[in-house]
Amino acid sequence: MIIDSHTHTAYSKHATGSVDDVVRAAIAVGVSVLTITDHAPFVIDSVNRLLESELDAYLDDICRARNKYAGHIKILAGLEMDYMLGARRHAESLLSTLDLDFVVGSVHYLPIDGQRVNVWDLTRLNEAAVLEQFFLSLEESVCSGLFDAIGHPDSLLRSVPVSRWRELFIPLAPLFQRYDVSYELNASGPRKSSWDSSMKCEFNGRWSYPCRETLPELLSSGATFTVGSDAHTPADVGAGLNDMLDELVPIGLNCICYYEGRQRIEVAVGKPRQLSVQASA
Ligand SMILES: [Zn+2]
Ligand SMILES: [Zn+2]
Repeated sequence: MIIDSHTHTAYSKHATGSVDDVVRAAIAVGVSVLTITDHAPFVIDSVNRLLESELDAYLDDICRARNKYAGHIKILAGLEMDYMLGARRHAESLLSTLDLDFVVGSVHYLPIDGQRVNVWDLTRLNEAAVLEQFFLSLEESVCSGLFDAIGHPDSLLRSVPVSRWRELFIPLAPLFQRYDVSYELNASGPRKSSWDSSMKCEFNGRWSYPCRETLPELLSSGATFTVGSDAHTPADVGAGLNDMLDELVPIGLNCICYYEGRQRIEVAVGKPRQLSVQASA
């Protein structure tokens, strides 16, 4: 049983494949619970996300696929929403109009001195102002009450050393349980490049995130976890999820979850994985 709670379609504009293509790819690789989480409309641009005018068609496509493939796969409707400091009102008003299963909030953009730094601008991520802004945004997104989970909260590890990361992240770890927000274990890390600051170059093939080194603190604080491939093409749906669990179960991960109607459904993981499913409050 594979659960994939973070996937994109062509509605995100920088991703490919229709909803139907993504669902068929998910069935082909054995995904049994699929949540489609295209990038929600946001002020920053209109070329990397859904437009407000497309939301009805997006949700209709998901609904059609849910009916068409009933009995083969559970299909859930989600959004990945951007979070920037002070952007709460935008997210709030959008969410109040939509009937979704799952909302993952992600920090992608950091306003620094009138410029915008993106979390994929690897050469800038170790700057003090960038780290400060990122952790303020992360904290505010967890405490906002808007999201079911926080997407790739540790993706800065593509550039930031783990020791520095731990220092800054550990004080925030208990907030996930306190504000009832899941921590996303995003399996796209091994598919992404990393930055070697001593060689000043980008390289591939390293596991950067999800962070293995902060899992013990998250587990002991009672955090819950979603899992997602963050696929931007049908070929990547489900990618890396089993390998990720193979890595994290031996170091203590024993339960993951997904959301249906914004309610958390917990699934035990272990050997054999994902044995039982039960709803939780
Ligand atoms: Zn993202
Ligand atoms: Zn994403």
